[in-house]
Amino acid sequence: MGYGKYSYEDYEKVVKLWRRGLSKYTISKLTGIPPSTIYNWVTGRSKPPKSRWRPPEKPDPTFTYILGVLLGDATVTTGGKYKYKIKLKAWDREFVEGFGRYLSTILNKKYRKPMRTEETLYIVEYYSKAFYDWFKNTSLNDLKDYVEHCRECKKAFLRGLFDSEGSHSANKAIYFYNTDRELIDYTCKLLSEFGIIFKGPYITIKAGDKIRAPKKKWTKSEYITAKKDLWTIQISGRYARKFLREIGFSIRRKQLGLKKKFFE
Ligand SMILES: [Zn+2]
Repeated sequence: MGYGKYSYEDYEKVVKLWRRGLSKYTISKLTGIPPSTIYNWVTGRSKPPKSRWRPPEKPDPTFTYILGVLLGDATVTTGGKYKYKIKLKAWDREFVEGFGRYLSTILNKKYRKPMRTEETLYIVEYYSKAFYDWFKNTSLNDLKDYVEHCRECKKAFLRGLFDSEGSHSANKAIYFYNTDRELIDYTCKLLSEFGIIFKGPYITIKAGDKIRAPKKKWTKSEYITAKKDLWTIQISGRYARKFLREIGFSIRRKQLGLKKKFFE
């Protein structure tokens, strides 16, 4: 028998049948796997290697939501103790929780509860070299094949983007910010497809401008120099309502257009 003839999924199927009380001969008949191999698997003597992570052949909204967040607030990095890291650090607990839950499904890993950092932020991390390799070798153009699978996949992608980089103040407008012009243009294209009219994109911060750094507890605000132009899209009035109805934020605070302090 050649190494790698059977997949990890075969192994899992066999173990499941074994736990139901079927004999190795019955399982063999059902699966076409020799009884001796089955015996080795169920006694823990051997098992096929776990397959490397691969992107799904048929994308779904869970996957495209993750892609949206990955192009937004989440980071995919290498280095340090845990070498290949997918991380989300954000203010809203439900955002980090939802991302963690979806990502655990995508990666087929155990769900990890978000942790709280001292800056009143929530954080969740997963580790996968295969995912890291795939993501780092995939351009926005490649991702479009997944995003454009169907309407629901497009919506989920936009929701992931807006959960990350969008803001909403009720009765005013919804804004989306990004320094990546290609991503901004793609976001505009998708919004147009849903019949959502917007203003922009326009530059709100120019590269070289002095901007206030995100304020940390107990420290005075500091100023930093913007490295890139910041582009903004603005959705107002009935188009904002259309956005909330048809795409929406998965973060309740943002969906309702409330300020952070109302949710503390
Ligand atoms: Zn789809």
